[in-house]
Amino acid sequence: MDEKKLIEMAMDVRKNSYSPYSKFSVGAALLTDSGKVYTGVNVENVSFGATNCAERTAVFKAVSEGELKIKAVAVCGDSESITLPCGICRQVILEFGDKDTKIICANKKGDYKVFTLEELLPYAFTKF
Ligand SMILES: [Zn+2]
Repeated sequence: MDEKKLIEMAMDVRKNSYSPYSKFSVGAALLTDSGKVYTGVNVENVSFGATNCAERTAVFKAVSEGELKIKAVAVCGDSESITLPCGICRQVILEFGDKDTKIICANKKGDYKVFTLEELLPYAFTKF
């Protein structure tokens, strides 16, 4: 599974985003170490604190299917600039990833930049 295919899947699922408040749709595609891909979108709520990001939706779908190891996550927002995961999502990805987990951040045209999780979450709080 290459980076571009993951981005395509993140871009495609973005159409299912439920984002009536921010109007900022986000899609994510997560690759597990078994080779399966789980997608997710942001799901907003009128009570804003109940909103869930696309990346965490994808993580929770994977974990609920028994997948506990994340190799890469692609994220794509409705923007000219690349979309980066928020701090909470970085921490949640780390729970099932490691410092080398790839975070592939794309804009709405598919241009992208790849980071390691360690680059996006240095000096992380970990269970070790
Ligand atoms: Zn987030």
